[in-house]
This record gives sequence, C-alpha cells and structure tokens, in this order.
Amino acid sequence: MLVLGAGLAGISAGLTLDRGYRLVERGTRPGGLCRTRLRDGFAFDATGHWLHLRDPGMRALAEELLPGGWVSVERRAAIWSNGVFTPYPYQVHTHGLPPAVIAENVLGFVAARLGEEGRALREREPRNFAEFVLRHLGPGFARNFMFPYNEKLWTVPPEDLSTEWMGRFVPQPTLEQVVRGALGLAEEGAGYNASFLYPREGGIETFVRALTARLTRPAECGVHPVSIDPGRKVALLSTGEEVPFRAVIATAPLPSLVELVGGAPPSVREAARSLRAATVTYVNVAARDVGGPPWHWVYLPEPRLRPYRVGSASAAVPSLAPPGCRSFYVEMSGAAPVPAAAAEAAALTALLELGMVRSAADVLFAETHSIPHAYVIHDARYGSAREEVRTWLAGRDVLVAGRSGSWEYSSMEDALLGGREAALRLR
Ligand SMILES: Cc1cc2nc3c(=O)[nH]c(=O)nc-3n(C[C@H](O)[C@H](O)[C@H](O)COP(=O)(O)OP(=O)(O)OC[C@H]3O[C@@H](n4cnc5c(N)ncnc54)[C@H](O)[C@@H]3O)c2cc1C
Repeated sequence: MLVLGAGLAGISAGLTLDRGYRLVERGTRPGGLCRTRLRDGFAFDATGHWLHLRDPGMRALAEELLPGGWVSVERRAAIWSNGVFTPYPYQVHTHGLPPAVIAENVLGFVAARLGEEGRALREREPRNFAEFVLRHLGPGFARNFMFPYNEKLWTVPPEDLSTEWMGRFVPQPTLEQVVRGALGLAEEGAGYNASFLYPREGGIETFVRALTARLTRPAECGVHPVSIDPGRKVALLSTGEEVPFRAVIATAPLPSLVELVGGAPPSVREAARSLRAATVTYVNVAARDVGGPPWHWVYLPEPRLRPYRVGSASAAVPSLAPPGCRSFYVEMSGAAPVPAAAAEAAALTALLELGMVRSAADVLFAETHSIPHAYVIHDARYGSAREEVRTWLAGRDVLVAGRSGSWEYSSMEDALLGGREAALRLR
C-alpha cells in the first residue's frame, strides 16, 4: 500500500495499516498543516490549531499518546465590529453593540423566523449560503457579521457558496438565546468549539511526533511520486524508484492527483480544474505582552481591515511564548498569497486597532507564510465535480483522504478519522 502525504490523515492511515505500507511525504518532515515553527522561544503553528475531539476513540488515543501532556482550554473568542468586542457566537451575545445594530439583528431574526417577510424562504430549501443565512438568522445578522466575514474568508460572495460545508460550523440559535444575548443574559459555552485540547508544550507538532513514533515504518520525507500508473499498479517516485502498490491512499490536493495518475477523460480533467480554493496568508507576530485583550482569537468582519481573523496562541497556552511576551497569528484570505510587506502592514494595523500591541516598537519580529488550498470553495460546481474526480480515482484504486485529498472543510480530527477509514477499507 502506498500512502501519499504524512499529515494527520496519512499518518493515521499508516497507523491503521500497521504493516505493508510505504508513507511518502513531499516536505522535509511529517505533520503537513500541523507543523510548528520555533523561533527565539516562540512556537507558532500554521495559524490556530486547536483540537476539538468529538470521537471518544480519538480522545482516548490522544490521552494514551501524550499522558498528562494536554491542557484543556475554555475558548475565549470574539468578533470585533463597530469598535467593540462581541463574544463568539455573535448571534447570542449582541449586548454591547450600538443599539441600532442590536435592533437590526434581533428584528431581522424575528422576521426571518416568524414574520411574513421570511415566509418565502422558510417554505423551501435554501439554494445557497446567502439564503441559508437569511432564512435562519435574518438580514441583520447577515449584514452585520455573516456576509462580510464569510466573503472575506471564502473570497467569494455568499450567493456563490453552497450550503454543504456549514454542518456544525454555523451556530443556529433559538429566539430565546438571541433575545437573552441582546439583553446581556447570554448562557456561556454555545457553539461547536467551546473548549479544546492542546499539547502542554511545543505546539501542535508535539501531537504529530507522538503519532509518528507509533508508525512501524517511518515516513519517507523529501519524496513524492512523479507519476502513478494505475494499469501496471506502479508509482514512480522522485527518487527514481518504482514502487508497486495494491492501492494508494492519497492525501495530496485532489486536483493534483488527476495530473499524477494521468489518462483522465476530458470531463474528469474539467471537473478537477473547476475545484477552487482560497489561499491563506498568515503573519506570525512575536510581541511584548502589553496586557492587551485576552481573546484567543478575534473575527474581523469589517471590510476596512484586511485580515479575517487575529489569534493569540500564547493567550490560550502561555508556554508558546517566552515570559513577558505574547504571540499572534493574523490571517488573510485571497486567490493568491499576499506579499509579505503588505501582509505585515495589514497585520500591524489590525493588532494596533484591537489593542493587542501599542506601537510597532512592541513587535519583536514578524514572519509571513501562506497555505495554498487552505479553504476549498464550496460553490455550485463543487459537489458534483469533487464526486466525479473521487469516483474516477477510486476506480483506479486511488482512495483520497484528509482535508486536501478529500477537498473539504474539515478538522484535525476529521483528518485522523478519514485516514483511518480509508485504511480500514483497504485492509
Ligand atoms: C488556516 C487553517 C486553520 C486550521 N485550524 C484548525 C483548528 O484549529 N482545529 C482543527 O481541528 N483543524 C484546523 N485546521 C484543519 C487541519 O489543519 C486539517 O484538517 C488537517 O491538518 C489536515 O491533515 P491532512 O493530513 O489531511 O492534510 P495536510 O496536513 O495538508 O497533509 C498533507 C501532506 O501531504 C503532503 N503532500 C502533498 N502533496 C504530496 C505529494 N504529491 N506526495 C507526497 N506528499 C505530498 C504535504 O506536504 C502534507 O505534509 C485548520 C486548517 C487551516 C487551513
């Protein structure tokens, strides 16, 4: 069995297969999106990487791999708009916003759920994400948070997004929760990620190292396939070696697999080309701790600020920065990476506005990185195109798994489960 990519999905596949596999990784070390950069006593993940484990088996595995090595953190997240921090989820915490904004949010919600204006949308399934938001949350929440935030993140208007991706990610409150939230009587802990686990030391890559230590055959790093011949069942590696396989578990980006396997009919090649994704540029900022707001992350819906989110990993887990310092990650989405100078200027503007730093002199260093295919775009073509490509690959014994392989919006736990599931199907 050949496994492509030693991110969480590929590692999980290797662990499940146990024997009789080769795990090849293009990068210099395993981990994929879960690698941590260390510099001057700071540990930076590729933006926030907080572990939300719902599967009891995964929780048990995490505990077994790092006994006593986890901290459990209660989420402190907020939305910055109209000059105030609104605790996440926005929908149930609007108290503190300007009264006109609260009124627009609450009255819009009532109209969508109960009013005559919302009836047409209530009587049919929403055709896109914009309709979903208008139907379930109303025009106020749409205008003041959901539309501008999601357009920044996904890089396309909400009308262009389908409703497939949101699942557990968009909190849908009751009228009582919305009204109580507007009056300052919110219950805490609402939303999909009210608390999370994180390694006590060393960043999220500590978890990767604990996982890879269990592999019976380590990942071969700096190696990738140049071509895969499904007829002969042989992969040609970048080392020049030909590796025979019974099946491939591929966690590399789905469109790239069509190139790698070759021989796809025009319809499959067209489907692969139509799969779109947003690139995330993020700036790691090491700063003096000026006693700024304590949020772990803050969503920025307003278009005048370039980033969509600012996070502070060390606010959640202090061991990620040296004493007296604080670390930040500032994220922006686009069709291509944002040049470093522009990204760092936008990051500083946001940090200053949020009060996370007081002046540029508080910044010790900043580094800009980018993640291609960070957010796959769930547009109208997405569902059928993805299915067509996956089915064609599966017919050639290439099973996809993971966030980029499956071409989906999913978490670390999903990657672990997806890699395991693919391996179980083959074993
Ligand atoms: C901005 C951002 C924030 C996130 N925050 C969170 C969070 O807070 N909590 C959470 O649970 N999840 C989060 N995630 C999701 C999480 O990072 C992923 O679900 C998970 O890490 C995906 O693992 P993977 O193995 O599927 O993919 P990857 O981590 O992308 O691994 C794929 C691996 O394949 C390698 N590769 C690529 N092509 C080839 C090839 N041709 N041959 C060999 N190797 C190849 C790559 O180098 C990489 O190492 C976030 C994701 C992003 C983008």
